[in-house]
Amino acid sequence: MARELLSVLAMEHFALKPLPYGQRALEPHVGRKTVALHYEKHHAGYVKKLNELVTGKPEATESLESMIRSSEGAIFNNAAQIWNHDFYWRSMHPDGGGAPEGALNEAIVGNFGSFERLRDEFLEAGAGHFGSGWLWLVSHRDGLRITTTPDADLPLRYGENALLCADLWEHAYYLDYHNERARYLEAFFDHLTNWEFAQANWSNAAVNTPMLRRASR
Ligand code: MN
Repeated sequence: MARELLSVLAMEHFALKPLPYGQRALEPHVGRKTVALHYEKHHAGYVKKLNELVTGKPEATESLESMIRSSEGAIFNNAAQIWNHDFYWRSMHPDGGGAPEGALNEAIVGNFGSFERLRDEFLEAGAGHFGSGWLWLVSHRDGLRITTTPDADLPLRYGENALLCADLWEHAYYLDYHNERARYLEAFFDHLTNWEFAQANWSNAAVNTPMLRRASR
């Protein structure tokens, strides 16, 4: 591992979380070189930058989530991008894809009509999002929905709970798919989506959301 990356991993306050799998694990859908550059340059770069921005400031003692809720500008952008990338890596799994089971599957059918309809909405929203940003499956007090956010923005800011996300920045797919974002998103959805992660996030959200807790009684 490059010395520069090791120094980011060892940084005082905000650390670069390890990837949950090897850099080749998502092939052929997302290539090793894409993962290496995305993790070691882009994701690590946000960690390095945030540490530089907050060193010696009161923010250095805050959690990433509280910083995201209370900051703006460069601190918000770098903190949110760290959160988004941690979430993105875990939204994928080498044995991902297929469809979720049990309660989440029922909730998807209830909210979207069918799993196929969720897939259509996910792909349409991702293809239709202009420029850089993120594509999300979220839960909120009325159920599940697909949404996109620009640049570093994220559902946490709007009281929504992220279940899954796909990175829409070109660095996430350009080496593998060039300008064809739709093909990247199809490969992501069909082969990489980590439904166990989504299920766990949804369960946590249901426990933590008063409306959902009341509804489930
Ligand atoms: Mn990215």
